[in-house]
Amino acid sequence: MSASIRLTNVHKRHGDLHIIRGLDLDIPAGQTVAIVGPSGSGKSTLLRLLMTLDRPSEGTIEIDGAPMWTDGQGQPATADSAHVRAVRGKIGMVFQQFNLFPHLTALGNVIEAPMYVQGLARADAEKLGREYLDKVGLGDKLDAYPAQLSGGQKQRVGIARALVMRPEIMLFDEVTSALDPELVGGILQIMRELSAQRTMTMLIVTHQMKFAEQSSDRTLFFDGGRVVEDAPSDRFFSNPRHPRARQFLQAVI
Ligand code: ADP
Ligand code: MG
Repeated sequence: MSASIRLTNVHKRHGDLHIIRGLDLDIPAGQTVAIVGPSGSGKSTLLRLLMTLDRPSEGTIEIDGAPMWTDGQGQPATADSAHVRAVRGKIGMVFQQFNLFPHLTALGNVIEAPMYVQGLARADAEKLGREYLDKVGLGDKLDAYPAQLSGGQKQRVGIARALVMRPEIMLFDEVTSALDPELVGGILQIMRELSAQRTMTMLIVTHQMKFAEQSSDRTLFFDGGRVVEDAPSDRFFSNPRHPRARQFLQAVI
């Protein structure tokens, strides 16, 4: 099952910095969206807002039609409210820097949330955790600690840890940027397969332009806290219309 996302006039400020400058966005359930653009343009901030790690200064975010930061009665909701926790439960995120617990094994990292957020018994969580580590090709590394894993393997744990919660929306923030070049392809392949299954809505911030072109339905080009181009990915990469997007693509390809 996948969920739709709607942003209406979303702004994010940090002090005097105006980081997200009025986003209006409709993402239907099941779509795979690539998010590209220069560093500092607000891409991670958008994902953090969607993950409820941060809240908008203005505007609304709806997941499957349910506003994120107000309860059913239209009253403001806090980060630890049942409503916001339920919304967060639909969303998984994978980070550039893995963010694994160093003192837990691969399996330990993956079963943490099923046990302590969903309340599964350890045996059930481990069964599920093995299944998901197997899916990302790490069935033989269950007991390895993060320090014993390559970057690519750590990122596989990061992906399994998000998937095990069966999210309806998956957010990927430059998940290959910290990897050695020869480890990038395997991670892109996992995302490609997840996208092809159409079981989740996927937002992928990436600098891998070929991947974005070939594996996403739609591309959003960010610049200065705004989406300055929003197009089907084949059209965007073959014929970018915004001058800033053209310039960016010429510089990175
Ligand atoms: P991107 O992911 O596109 O590189 P970010 O969303 O990380 O961009 O950041 C956009 C801008 O917001 C940057 O100028 C960054 O320095 C700033 N920024 C992000 N988070 C904060 C914060 N917590 N406090 C102050 N400035 C921030
Ligand atoms: Mg970023």
